[in-house]
Amino acid sequence: MNILLIAIDTLSARHMGCYGYQRDTSPFLDQVAQENALFESLYCQAIPTQPSFTSLYTGQYAITHGIVAHGTTRQLNEEAPFLSTLLQQHGYTTCAVDNLSSHQEWFTRGYEFYITPRQTGQYAQATPWEAYNARAIPWLKQHKDEQFFMFVHYWDPHTPYIPPEEYRGLFYEGDPTDPSNHSLDGLERHPLGEQWRQWFDQHLMPGITDAEYIRAMYDSEIRYVDNGVRQLLETMDDLAIADDTLVVIFSDHGEMMYKHGIYFDHHGLYDEDIHVPLIVRWPGVTNTGVRIPHLVQHIDIAPTILDIADIAIPQEMEGSSLVPYLTGKSDAPLYPYLVSLECTRQMKWALRTDRYKYILAREKDYCGGPMRELYDLKKDPHEMNNIADQQPEQVRELEAILNGWIAQMMEQNGLTEDPLVAHGLTLGTGWKEWVETHGYW
Ligand SMILES: [Zn+2]
Repeated sequence: MNILLIAIDTLSARHMGCYGYQRDTSPFLDQVAQENALFESLYCQAIPTQPSFTSLYTGQYAITHGIVAHGTTRQLNEEAPFLSTLLQQHGYTTCAVDNLSSHQEWFTRGYEFYITPRQTGQYAQATPWEAYNARAIPWLKQHKDEQFFMFVHYWDPHTPYIPPEEYRGLFYEGDPTDPSNHSLDGLERHPLGEQWRQWFDQHLMPGITDAEYIRAMYDSEIRYVDNGVRQLLETMDDLAIADDTLVVIFSDHGEMMYKHGIYFDHHGLYDEDIHVPLIVRWPGVTNTGVRIPHLVQHIDIAPTILDIADIAIPQEMEGSSLVPYLTGKSDAPLYPYLVSLECTRQMKWALRTDRYKYILAREKDYCGGPMRELYDLKKDPHEMNNIADQQPEQVRELEAILNGWIAQMMEQNGLTEDPLVAHGLTLGTGWKEWVETHGYW
């Protein structure tokens, strides 16, 4: 069976129809999900891009593979298990249509073909899905008779949000430059504010005041990339290989809109940012449509693909195969809770249970957030009301679980210091200077 792995960078599950969003952002993906398997609860154990994709490939927690931050100077251990390498070793023709190679060298491991579509425009992340399909589709036509593993990585929902003109009115009515709207005032005091302002002015229109307009542009990008996935999967139909190809669609992290002092970026361990889609089309197995409510993680994706390909899952992979969920053989939870981390713009850990989210900072938050946050997800699903001060007992209990998990993983990996503190912020360095210069927060 062939394998097609599709990543849509920066796609928050909370902005997709199949996860309950009220806007019709993802009609094709919703249909694929409805007719196949949808995992309702894929949460990121590490954000943003580089830690998350490294976990995807290695099947390991970030604390184990050591890539805890985006933009790190560390290298991934040569011995780490790697999905594409394993598939190549087992006879798959491997191809990535992706630009992660410009981030870190290890993302090219195991690929016979590594195609980086030519960047159109100023930013790699703004290169539209057409550029990826223009490379992926001819490759598929040429190699369709080989057993292949193909990875396609779209970036449309990533900043800067620049949907084609005809998509810009889909989810917005109103005046984006209404002077009485102050929802973007906080940008002036934000380390990313100047950059974001320039992007809005240059690519959308000058003088935007309405944050909801920007949210609508993010949603339009999702609607736009939905067409890219449609074109790629319809090509599989045309080539008569769809029935012999496993399709896995996911995102590496979500996106914050404009809450918690964070603007249109992927930091902050809130659900908007760590809850991402996972859709699996396994011909002959998932055809009846199945929704899996249990918590799963990116570390489970490589073991699942290897299991379906009938390749032994290396001991070093820490995730679990999700095949028992897909075949209906198991309905038992895999994990009692999620531990999540980030060390790029903020240095934080989070513990997410069915009921609570607890976020613990190891260093001052340069967006002005508190050192400890507690949210009751049942009463407050948008995590707007921090109850850490009102519920000290709950904080103690959750912090003990969190610290216990970290200590156990440190011991397992021979670490003597909290890996976030030992690593230090990466992109946060400039933020510290910005905050010092501007005297804000
Ligand atoms: Zn990303």
